[in-house]
Amino acid sequence: MAFNGYMNKRLRINLNKNSVQEEVISEDFCRKFIGGKGFNAKILLDEVGPRIKPLSEDNLLIFGTGPLIGVQVFSANRLTISAKSPLTDVTGNSSIGGGELAVKMKGTGYDQIVIAGKAENLVYLVITGKNIEFRDAEHLRGKSTSETMLLIKREIDDISAAIACIGPAGESLVRFACIITEDHAAGRTGMGAVMGSKNIKAIVFKGSKKPQVYDKKKLSAIKKDILQELNSDPAIEKAKKYGATTAVEALNSIGVLEVKNLQTGIFDEIEKISGKMVRDNYGIKKRGCLYCPIGCRSLSLFHSKEFGSFVLGGPEFASLQSFGSRIGNSNVESICFMTKLANDYGLDFMSFCGVISWLMECYEKGFITEKDIDGISLNWGDYNKVILLMEKIAFRRGIGDILAEGSYRASEKFGEKTRKYALHVKKLEFENFDPRGYKGRGTGFGVSARGADNCTTLCSIESTLTEKQAEKLFGSKEAAKLTGVKGKGKLLKYMEDFTAVSELLGLCRYAMYAFSSNLDHTIIRSKLLSKAFSYVTGMIPEDKSLDFLVEAGERLINLERMYNIREGLTRKDDLLPERFRFEPLPEGPSKGSIIEEDQILDEYYEERGWDKESGIPLDSTLKRIKLKI
Ligand code: SF4
Repeated sequence: MAFNGYMNKRLRINLNKNSVQEEVISEDFCRKFIGGKGFNAKILLDEVGPRIKPLSEDNLLIFGTGPLIGVQVFSANRLTISAKSPLTDVTGNSSIGGGELAVKMKGTGYDQIVIAGKAENLVYLVITGKNIEFRDAEHLRGKSTSETMLLIKREIDDISAAIACIGPAGESLVRFACIITEDHAAGRTGMGAVMGSKNIKAIVFKGSKKPQVYDKKKLSAIKKDILQELNSDPAIEKAKKYGATTAVEALNSIGVLEVKNLQTGIFDEIEKISGKMVRDNYGIKKRGCLYCPIGCRSLSLFHSKEFGSFVLGGPEFASLQSFGSRIGNSNVESICFMTKLANDYGLDFMSFCGVISWLMECYEKGFITEKDIDGISLNWGDYNKVILLMEKIAFRRGIGDILAEGSYRASEKFGEKTRKYALHVKKLEFENFDPRGYKGRGTGFGVSARGADNCTTLCSIESTLTEKQAEKLFGSKEAAKLTGVKGKGKLLKYMEDFTAVSELLGLCRYAMYAFSSNLDHTIIRSKLLSKAFSYVTGMIPEDKSLDFLVEAGERLINLERMYNIREGLTRKDDLLPERFRFEPLPEGPSKGSIIEEDQILDEYYEERGWDKESGIPLDSTLKRIKLKI
């Protein structure tokens, strides 16, 4: 019998046999792993063994949705795509939202889709509520993501179908290739390369089924409460107008913007790449994602002498920083053009810019010369050369073949002197901010299961915490100071467990945690959404639902930890690059700061219930969170 909030079914596709199989998802599985990233992490741990090669047919590509997908709750539009990562060789995943992909996937009648094997030729899959088709995609080989989506929509004669596809980078098995839907990306950890290795160009979802809801009346009432809560938060006004782009100036003002491969945290030409400037001058339309009243996104129009006229969804904070200050570039038209290009090639631009900024610093220091990189001189801000390199990487041409391996592997080829400038954790390139001046979330880059990733702590908690709250919750006033050390380990666990809830339910992390003016709003919002979970599923009484979900978040973090431990990772793999531990920030409000990571890690491991030497979860921890491995 179907239970509420779920479709109760998993679809398995075997590309070697061109076969499909349905299986029931048990209620116990749902209670423990909730959905999305939680569902996928469990399958990955159980079925993707330690010896498999991520780009071999033994890897699985897994799509998972959460229980709030399909019931029109605030910002519930995301699904998670998981596999063993070809970039990091450990747990890989990326969530994707914005449009209707998650809703239409669940609408086909499946909470989770697990794809095994490899198709003989390039194919695209069409999954409807009634059948699954394998269609030839050889004519789409080499096509950009935007062209691919357009051509498929024409072929299937359905403009409203939701499509996840790869571009040339995924076909070329670039280790940081991404998966695109509309102009949204499942960017990190190379899920596009896994899709390419399976010879899948695209997956089309055409479903309109809906899950059952346990208590429709209460769900409808709580939706109104959520809206009221949002409108009462002073942070929402700015979020509506400028979205996350305000982070460009905010991070620069505290001296932790990524500038020139994170050599410093202050960008001299900040006003040229400011989010406000871009939105005010180029924005033509405000946009929101499905079921989100915040609508923090924008559409921009450019009439450029160099790049012609083009429209871009965005730009958002990450591309302004990655294609801007990170590579020393203040030409905003080029930033936006490169963002569009990266989406069309199907490249994760954060890893791409990590590779390029590493290369630029090595070039500046004389460790890499033109001869090493196909005769290209590569100075800071030289966007024309960056565009050239992007094409080389996407098609693995010339030097692009080495750079397509990511900065860790490329630095192994270029030699000892270049290695320390490849800024990665677990082989995933850094993104978002300099950890030296933001030490709780900074340490989060280290312990995140998928590598240097800020999404596991995408919380306003650290920046809005008061000293009183810090002392009460984390035992030290220092936790409220961005550059404090004491209490940061406890704070980090708190932020991670909270953030994981959004990944389980299919909610937008920005909407849940980033756009919040203080901890009270974050907690109230989380309580309301966990009540919505109760009303949708009936799984847990409303007064216990937040604790229930936060514990499930903790379970997810431990599941991923166990996967990585089995792959051979230890505490040393949680360490940040030497730059952040030994080179003080050279200027700005955090001048002189390094990250005292060992100290924070000790406190964090203790709080998590992990062995301090090895980082392995203790038996008592696994027992407490009801996780038998
Ligand atoms: S907060 Fe912004 S990114 Fe998140 S769902 Fe809403 S519109 Fe989309």
